[in-house]
Amino acid sequence: MTELFHKYASKQELARQVKATDLQVERRNKLHYRVKSQSEDGLWYDIIHKKDSHQDGQWTCNCLDFIYRQVTCKHLYAVTLWK
Ligand SMILES: [Zn+2]
Repeated sequence: MTELFHKYASKQELARQVKATDLQVERRNKLHYRVKSQSEDGLWYDIIHKKDSHQDGQWTCNCLDFIYRQVTCKHLYAVTLWK
C-alpha cells in the first residue's frame, strides 16, 4: 500500500482525512475489501487489488471519484488504514 502514501505528506495526514469521514470497511480477503457508501444507503464499493505483469499491482475502487476523476479516493484511504 506504499503507493498511496506518496500522495500525502504523512501517514498522520492520511489518517486524519479518513477519520473525519468515518467509513465502514469490510474485509473479504487480502485482495478484496468493501467500503460502505455515505451518499447512498445500502451501496458498498469494491476495493480490489489488481495485479499486472509490469508492476506489483494496484488498488482500484469502483466509485465515481476513482473511475472518472482518477484520484485516490477516500475508500482506498480507508482500506489502507484498516489493514
Ligand atoms: Zn472509492
